Amino acid sequence: MTETITPRDIRKLKLDELKEFFVSQGDKAFRAQQVYDWLWNKSAKSFEQMTNLSLETREMLKKNFVINHIKVDKMQRSEDGTIKNAVMLHDGLVVESVLIPTEKRITACVSSQVGCSLACKFCATARLKRQRNLSPDEIYDQVVAIKEQAEMFFGRPLTNIVFMGMGEPLLNYNNVLAAIDKITNQKGLGMATKRITVSTVGVAKMIMKMADDGVKFNLAVSLHAAINKTRSSIMPINDTNSLEELGEALKYWYQKTKSKVTYEYVVWKGVNDTEEHARALLKFCKLVPSKVNLIEYNPIDEGEFQQADDKVLDMYMHLLESNGITTRIRKSRGKDIDAACGQLANKG
Ligand code: SAH
Repeated sequence: MTETITPRDIRKLKLDELKEFFVSQGDKAFRAQQVYDWLWNKSAKSFEQMTNLSLETREMLKKNFVINHIKVDKMQRSEDGTIKNAVMLHDGLVVESVLIPTEKRITACVSSQVGCSLACKFCATARLKRQRNLSPDEIYDQVVAIKEQAEMFFGRPLTNIVFMGMGEPLLNYNNVLAAIDKITNQKGLGMATKRITVSTVGVAKMIMKMADDGVKFNLAVSLHAAINKTRSSIMPINDTNSLEELGEALKYWYQKTKSKVTYEYVVWKGVNDTEEHARALLKFCKLVPSKVNLIEYNPIDEGEFQQADDKVLDMYMHLLESNGITTRIRKSRGKDIDAACGQLANKG
């Protein structure tokens, strides 16, 4: 009699479940540890690679499980060295991830969802409606792919990870945390948690939850305006998640974690380019220890939004710096291949 088995995704199993599986097959529990090591430490993409297992065990695993590894479907390189990957998931959906090289660092910018539900008016990803959350292994695989590219194309290790690709990481919180666990665990990639930054539109409830959970990674908030009326006009989430609520959540975050917050902020012509806006930002920055990245706008449309003039950026910079707030102007990377902030939209 032949028995048909629908192979399960092996990376959905916890170590204990994998142990139970081996025991149920009349094998030793420690095999599970070996397999787990291949999956999460050595990032094996197939059972054939697991050479310290007998052929028989590998065959048995192949009958029962699959490894739903992502595939880098298309890779584009910018003239500034930035690499953008179109990443094909097992169900045919596509997300994008980016490798950003600088003199000292190689940063992986990864996606947490397919599309996004937030509808920020200036962001290209917002035009792809949210299709689904990424699983922990799909997030982990993006990091592994970029780590391999860093070694292959630059001969350098991956140093930093930012959750600034497609999607809102705090609306896929459990999977993002599970991925970070695999990335930082000594039995995983063993990267330092302080090298990871999670960027959020500022979901207040989830920021408080993160504080309660005692997470150790860095927090960045895409602020863009510190006046409710303006923020609501460009980021609809602000209607139900006001700056006051966000501010309270950040105070709670700082109390619990003692970790500085980074604000991402784009200055646009006619939107937030007045001194009143700059002063509101300064006031917001005083709620908790923080720093500001003034990021260059990457046009995604026919000019509805336009980057403010340099002299407005100087005004912001001067006001913030003279009041003790560290402020950096962040130039775009990978613009020529639509790999810069807010440009990820599966154009290919
Ligand atoms: N949802 C998360 C993660 C996305 S990060 C968040 O909002 O933080 C992407 C970053 O790029 C955010 O700071 C976002 O506000 C910014 N961004 C979006 N569109 C942009 C554009 N066209 N130009 C520059 N930055 C943009």
